[in-house]
Formats: sequence, structure tokens, C-alpha cells
Amino acid sequence: AAPNSAAARDIAYALHPYTDHRAHEKNGPMIIISGKGVRVTDDAGREYLETVAGLWCASLGFSNERLVEAATAQMRKLPFYHGFTSRSHEPLIELSEMLIARAPVPMSKVFFANSGSEANDTAIKMIWYYNNAIGRPNKKKIISRIKGYHGVTLAAASLTGLPNNHKLFDLPIAGVLHTSCPHFYRFGAEGETEDAFATRMADELEAMILAEGPDTVAGFFAEPVMGAGGVIIPPRGYFAKIQAVLRKYDVLMVADEVICGFGRTGEYWGTQTFGVQPDIITCAKALSASFLPISAVMVNDRVFQGLADGSASVGTWGHGFTYSGHPVPAAVAIETLKIYDEMDIVGHVKRVGAHMQASLRAAFADHPLVGEVRGIGMIAAVELSADKAARSPFDPARKMGARLVKLGEAHGLILRALPGDAIAFSPPLIMEIDEVDEMVERFGHALDELAVQARR
Ligand code: PLP
Repeated sequence: AAPNSAAARDIAYALHPYTDHRAHEKNGPMIIISGKGVRVTDDAGREYLETVAGLWCASLGFSNERLVEAATAQMRKLPFYHGFTSRSHEPLIELSEMLIARAPVPMSKVFFANSGSEANDTAIKMIWYYNNAIGRPNKKKIISRIKGYHGVTLAAASLTGLPNNHKLFDLPIAGVLHTSCPHFYRFGAEGETEDAFATRMADELEAMILAEGPDTVAGFFAEPVMGAGGVIIPPRGYFAKIQAVLRKYDVLMVADEVICGFGRTGEYWGTQTFGVQPDIITCAKALSASFLPISAVMVNDRVFQGLADGSASVGTWGHGFTYSGHPVPAAVAIETLKIYDEMDIVGHVKRVGAHMQASLRAAFADHPLVGEVRGIGMIAAVELSADKAARSPFDPARKMGARLVKLGEAHGLILRALPGDAIAFSPPLIMEIDEVDEMVERFGHALDELAVQARR
């Protein structure tokens, strides 16, 4: 990097999330300067189609005057207030009301945090507090899934079922357990039907609960579609079977809607797509179209009543962030939800998502480098495979996913490779059909170039 350039200063001073800093010192950053619609522009003036909406989050793309206006108007009126000890303010009240009105199952109350990780940490503490409040202090173990992604704070990272989030951090914390990942393509047994696979997953969960002791298991966390773990769509019937087990042993169901919430799967909530009946819902990302950070935890009445009774039985709920329900991101979230209603986000995703799924399958399902194309609504993955018939992955040392990301850049695409060389597609929800076509065409060029490289 040229001395004193933005790249050189980045290398000198910035510590980046999920980054190999030795490689970063050598290659430098990609510096994004501006955004418009579904595209962003870098410091050399090159424009890219954003195929993952940043981090699955910029649902309304990278420009929106109404959200700018909502934020600035709120900053002028009341730039900060909080919700501690019965204080409140208008954006907190209105956003709570709007979320409860849009909940997929009857929900009672909303708590705000700043990130998906904080929302999931909060949900764990709610479950623990709730069980203490109702006199079941030993019912506190939490089960999540291998390849699930729930964040990086110490409790949320414990829920996350990816090895790099645990090793070297003394995680998971005590009492957090992981059950199998319901990816039929990868883990279905020889000759097993999808239904039998789903039954096996539920039986495994039940065996785990029985082995641990049902009186000690309190909660189950799941993303309706696993995102960072590989865009894994549960097999048909999976959640119905899982929920039957949870009900049998009185285990609270937490739906992590951080990626799926607000239309991504072609319904307003991922839980609706898969018939999940959660007791607690966490959401973030598209809640504010990611213009400002905010997350939320919704609880049903049963959980709320326990929390409310807790003050008298075990002492007041000792949890909350300075910025819980911050008025400025809350105002942006209110405006975001209004925009979703006006644009009929669900109808839009159903229409454009159907085209996106069909186009990705038509273009890549038979490609020699591709093992599986999967997805629903406007979330998908194209998983590379070294041997299509054997479904075997590439040797990670070949870094096929990372190479494809690099090739994509040359074709004006920002791509995201997940572990196992699955390329994720989760574009801004405002993407239109012609932009989907452009995305698929450009990706095809990059993939063909990778195929040429792979033969060498
Ligand atoms: N849950 C899911 C499903 C996510 O995809 C993420 C982040 O990608 C998180 C939780 C964590 O959110 P955050 O990065 O805002 O802490």
C-alpha cells in the first residue's frame, strides 16, 4: 500500500473481525466508499453488486433517504434516552407495539439490545432468570445445533456451533450443548428419506434431553434457516418433530430470526416458513435495514409472567444495555417496518426469490464444480464439490471458496464464501429481477474461470 494511503493506514491501525491479519498486511483492505441501491463502490471507483447485503443485513440496500430523515429527525428531537427503571420514550414504545403486532405467534413484550449476539445472550439470561423465578433453578441447560450461528459474545458464541468460535476461548460455557445439523444433503445416511432423517434428528435431540435429565434442560435455539453455517434449509417436517420433543420436556423454543426475520425466506418470519412456534424470538439486522445497530428479543406471555414475578421471588431482572431501545436506531427501525409494509416485502421476496432460486438452480445445479444449490426466498447457497456423485468437498487447503470470491470481484460482485466452500446469496431484499439476472450471469463467469483454474 502507498505510504499514508487509506490502505496503509488501515493496515497500520485497524483490527478487523474474522480476518487473517498477516494476509491483510500483505493484501490490504477492500475499502468501500459509497453505496446506492444494491451496489457499493470502492476507493478506486469500481462498482460491485452486493450479493450478501453486507452481512445478510442491508435489506433495503445502501441508500434510502427516508431512513436518513428518520434518524436525523429523531436526533434533533431526542438523541438519547433509555428504558431503565421504568423510563421510556416514544420510539421505544412505538417499535415495541409494531413488533408485537407483526409477531408470527402471540408475543407479549419486547426487549431491545444492539446486536444479534446481545439479543441471544439476553434470551439465555431470560430463560435462566425465568426458571429461577418460577422455582426451577436447575432447569438451565441450553441446546443449540452444530453449524448454528448465534453470535460471538461469550454466551452467544457458546450457542454457535462452529469450531473456531469455541477453541482457544474455553467455550462453550457450562450447560450449553450441541445437537446435529439438519443438512440432509451432507448428513443424510445412504438410502435414508428426508422424513426419516428429520425423525432421526428429533430422536437424537430426545436422547440428549433424556441423558442430561429433562429437569435440567431449559431451552433450544435454532435459526429457521442456518445462515453462516452454510445456508442450511431444514428437511420437511424437521421443526414439527423437534418441537414435539421440546413440548414433551417443557423446553423453551428460541427462534433466532437475526437473518430470516423481515421477509428473507418469503414469509415475514422464517418461523412461518417452517411452522415453528417459538416462545422467544431474537431479531436484528433487517430490523433497521442495518442503517443503525439494534436488535430485539420478543417473549410470549408465559415467559413474561415469569420474568415479572421474578422481582418479588428472586430480585429484579438485572440486565440491560445503556443503548437498549436507543431512540435513533428505534426510529430508523420504525421507518424500516413501514417501508416493508408499503413495498409488500413478503410479496416482493416471494416473486423475486422464486426467480432467484430457479435461476441459480438452472444455471449451476449441473455445473461440474457444484454439489448442491439450495435456498428459499432470497437466501441461497451454491456449494462447491470436488466430486459431484460422491458429494465430497474440496480439500480446504485449495481455498476454492476464497478463490471464487476473488474472481467474483473482477466481475463486479461482492461474494461471501462460507465454511465448506458454500457461496452464500442473500442480496438486499429490494433487489429486482434484472439485478438477479445480472448477479447470476456474473457469478457464472467467475465460476467458469474457477473451473479452468481447478483443471490446471
Ligand atoms: N444470529 C444469527 C443467525 C446471525 O447470523 C448473526 C450474525 O450474523 C448473529 C446472531 C449475531 O449477530 P451480531 O453479529 O449482530 O452480534
